[in-house]
Amino acid sequence: MLLYNTLTRNIEELRPINPPEVTVYTCGPTVYDYPHIGNWFTFVRYDILIRVIMASGFRPKWVMNITDVGHLSSDADYGEDKLAKGARREGKSAWQIADFYSNYFLDRLAKLNFINPWQTPRATAHIDDQIEFIKILEQKGFTYRIDDGIYYETSKFPSYSDFARLDLDEQQPGVRIDFNQQKHRPSDFALWKFSSPSTPRDMEWDSPWGKGFPGWHIECSTMCYKYLGDTIDIHSGGIDHIPVHHTNEIAQSEARTQHPLANIWLHTNHILINDQKISKSLGNGLTLEDLEAKGYSPEVFRLLVAESHYRTQSKFSWEHLEATKKRLLRYHNFAVRRFQTTGKKTLGTPDILRYLQNDLNSPKALSVFEEFLDQAEKTSPSKISIESSISLMDELLGLNLQDVKDISITQKHLIRERERARDENDWPKADGIRQMLEVSNITILDTPDGPVWQYIT
Ligand SMILES: [Zn+2]
Repeated sequence: MLLYNTLTRNIEELRPINPPEVTVYTCGPTVYDYPHIGNWFTFVRYDILIRVIMASGFRPKWVMNITDVGHLSSDADYGEDKLAKGARREGKSAWQIADFYSNYFLDRLAKLNFINPWQTPRATAHIDDQIEFIKILEQKGFTYRIDDGIYYETSKFPSYSDFARLDLDEQQPGVRIDFNQQKHRPSDFALWKFSSPSTPRDMEWDSPWGKGFPGWHIECSTMCYKYLGDTIDIHSGGIDHIPVHHTNEIAQSEARTQHPLANIWLHTNHILINDQKISKSLGNGLTLEDLEAKGYSPEVFRLLVAESHYRTQSKFSWEHLEATKKRLLRYHNFAVRRFQTTGKKTLGTPDILRYLQNDLNSPKALSVFEEFLDQAEKTSPSKISIESSISLMDELLGLNLQDVKDISITQKHLIRERERARDENDWPKADGIRQMLEVSNITILDTPDGPVWQYIT
C-alpha cells in the first residue's frame, strides 16, 4: 500500500511498526457547531483509508480525537475559544455545546457508514494527561511562562521548521493584533492558558501553573501518545494543519519521547465552493443537513468525496452533486439486477483495491468499476458476479450498495401482469400498470431477455 508522506514529500510503502497492526491518528472535529462539508470530506477520506488498510490485510487501530476545549478561533493562540463562542451563540454553557456536538458527530459517523474508530477521546476527559505532558516538557526545559500562559519554546527544538518547511524569519512578531508580545518567538505556542480573572470560563481546571485550560495542540500529542504510543504509523488531518497544528504536535511529542511522532503524515486538500475555501466566516459552510434538505443521501455524499483525489483541490457545486446522485443511481440499478438475473456469465471482480492501494486513487477506482459496469450491462452477469462486485464497493467505499432493496411481491406481480397484458395486446392495461409502477419510483425496460425493472431516482 502506497501513500504520499508529507514528511518526506514522497510516495512511500506503508510498513507498519507492528504488523498486522497499523496505528492511525486523525485530528478530529472541534465540537462547537455543525461541521461543514469540507470537514466531512476530510473525515470520509480517512474512513476510506481505514477501509483500504483493512482490505490490504492489516488491522487498523484508529484514534480520532474530539476537541472540546482549547481551540481558539485562530489555529494559533489568539481569539476566542471556539466552544465559548458556540456557547454564546446558542445561549448555553460550553459543556452543553460540547456534549451536543460530540454526540451529533458520533451519530453522524454512524449515519455516514463510518468504520467505528477504536477510540474517540475527548480533550476535556484527558486534562490530567495533558498537565502531565506539559510537566514533562517543563522538566526538559522546553517551556516558559508569560502573563497569559505556559508556552513552548520553539527555539529549543531545532528541527521545528522542517516539517512544514517554514521560513521562520518571515514570521514577524506583532503582525497580528492579538499577538502576545511577551512570546520569545512568533512560532512559540501555548501549552496551558490561564483563565482571565475578568472573564469567567465554563471550562477551566487547576494546574501546577494556575487555573486555566490546555492549548489545542497538546491535546493531540497527549492522546496520540496515550492510546498509540511513541511512534505511530500514520498521522492524518487537513492540509491546514501542516504549518501550525502538526508542526506543534511534532515539537511537543518528539521533545517528550525523542522518537518520531509518526512515520507517515497524510493531508487532505481543501474543497472549494465558487473557487473559495469553505469556512464558517465566509458564510459558505454548507452542512450535511443542507445537502439532505435537497434530497442528497449520505451515500451520494460519500460518492462525491470518492470522485476526487484527496491531494487535489476539489470543487463543490450543486450541479456536480446532482450528477453524482445520477452516478450512484446507476450503481443502484446495477445492484438490483441481482434480484432479477437468470444470467450465468461470470465476470471477474473489478480491481478497485489496487488503485486505492496506490495513494488512495479513488477516482481511478470508480472509473475501473464503471468499466466493469459497461461490460456487465452488455451481458447477463450471474447473481454472484453482481454480488461480489457490489460487496467489494461497499467494503472499500462504504456506499451501501448491498442495502438497495428489492421491489415488493405486489410490484413483481404487477410486472408479470403487464407482460400478460402485452402478450394479449391489451396496451391500455399495460400502460396503466407502467404508470402505477412509475408512481412507486420503478420503471420497466423491455429487453430481449424480458422486462428489467430499475429505480427512477
Ligand atoms: Zn490534532
